[in-house]
Amino acid sequence: MKTVFFGTRAEEKECIEKWAEKYGYEVCTRTDFLTEENAAETYGYDAVGIVVNCRVTEKIAKTLSEAGVRYLLTRAAGTDHLDMEAIQRYNIKAANVPIYSPNAIAEHTILLTLSALRHLKEQIMRNEKYNFSIAGLQGRELRNMTVGIVGTGRIGCTTIQGLSGFGCKMLAYDKWERKDMKQFVTYVTLDELLLSSDVLIFHCPLTEDNYHMINEASLKKCKQGVVIVNCARGGLLDHEAVLKALKSGRVGALAMDVYEKEQLFLRKDKSREGLQDELIKELLMREDVIYTSHTAFYTDEAISNIIETSFQNLYEYVTTGECANEVSG
Ligand code: NAD
Repeated sequence: MKTVFFGTRAEEKECIEKWAEKYGYEVCTRTDFLTEENAAETYGYDAVGIVVNCRVTEKIAKTLSEAGVRYLLTRAAGTDHLDMEAIQRYNIKAANVPIYSPNAIAEHTILLTLSALRHLKEQIMRNEKYNFSIAGLQGRELRNMTVGIVGTGRIGCTTIQGLSGFGCKMLAYDKWERKDMKQFVTYVTLDELLLSSDVLIFHCPLTEDNYHMINEASLKKCKQGVVIVNCARGGLLDHEAVLKALKSGRVGALAMDVYEKEQLFLRKDKSREGLQDELIKELLMREDVIYTSHTAFYTDEAISNIIETSFQNLYEYVTTGECANEVSG
């Protein structure tokens, strides 16, 4: 079984080699991402490992299939970077890592929430200029706030449990209500959640139904000064509309780990070249916008779990022809 892993970070290499040895699989690790230009270089490999910013298009799926690749192993929970219709059409089996450490993302979400409420970015920016005045830095305490969580799956529930210690009132919106969460949250409609929340947290997948669910119209329903925290997917927010709302004060702060057009720069050092996307440039310059570049998952525990599960996925396919983590269309 020969596997090539794209987008391999230095700290993953050792872990990949450890698990490859354990399973007796041959592996090659590459630091570059899978693209239309290099997809043919997978010739001779049975499986291809990728990361979230390797977008598998119809063209790539076709090239992989022609190269003899049978399995695609994404080291991600989300699957919106995969054209599943094409992948299935070219008879490639794809598996993801749906659970690796909900705590990693939940802790990051709480970090971003508290950072936004206490103007942490602005404080750091002032300190760098030796400006230690505190005017305008007065924060807010969670115990007096209403937090609305959209999506109460694995990560949402972990965030809710973490936030429960802060004493805030919590509302939740999900298509499926979790009985075990009702001790912490009150389930409401999306409109009720938007109307009543001081902090809005997103933990739902990006689907066709909820693309830009936070837009000019929905922002009008939100409380004045609402803090938006997004560790799910960038496409949930219309960032143009959010920027306008930040300028008007309708949105008090935006803390995001994800951005709709992050594929343009994610995991790349753009410090010399700069960015082409004027919108993210404007957002990044603002004191009321905190951005972490899709690193919520990035902990020792999560990396180890992700790689272990990728090998388990491959082993299941090879030994049974099926995989519990198969991505459906
Ligand atoms: P999950 O499948 O366990 O839970 C998702 C929940 O969202 C489910 O309860 C589902 O019913 C609900 N949901 C689906 N569509 C919805 C909608 N339109 N409105 C409200 N709720 C909806 O997934 P999870 O493991 O909790 O992950 C949630 C999301 O977090 C993933 O889809 C992924 O996009 C994102 N994620 C981000 C990172 C990161 O590093 N920033 C890492 C992992 C996952």
